Amino acid sequence: MWLSHSKLTEPRIMSKKQKWTLKDENRLFNEEWELQYFLISSKDKMVCLLCSTVITTIKKYNANQHYINHSNHKYAILEGEARKTILQQLKNESLHRQQTFNKFFQQNNNATEATYKVAYILGKRGKTI
Ligand SMILES: [Zn+2]
Repeated sequence: MWLSHSKLTEPRIMSKKQKWTLKDENRLFNEEWELQYFLISSKDKMVCLLCSTVITTIKKYNANQHYINHSNHKYAILEGEARKTILQQLKNESLHRQQTFNKFFQQNNNATEATYKVAYILGKRGKTI
């Protein structure tokens, strides 16, 4: 009884441990990928600077697979300083886009809030009349 029990639990503990390490390693964005694949990390995702595609799984394999699509891209063939300059430029543009988006989102949020207030007032009136 005791032997069969320990046989059952032991592999389960081991696989749990392995899973954790695997997940841990895979989910780390390597900053070298910025220059290598024109990808930047965004929260727990990666974003392609060449086409704005969001890659949800942070893995070198996924980064490489996506970058293959851009093998003929005018920036993909750049090397050394030129590549670094373009990367910086694309990062700045991406940051600017993100800020613009946030601003838009904020404005949109305010508008939604106003609509709710109007609806609330209308609803209240509807009840009292
Ligand atoms: Zn891309």
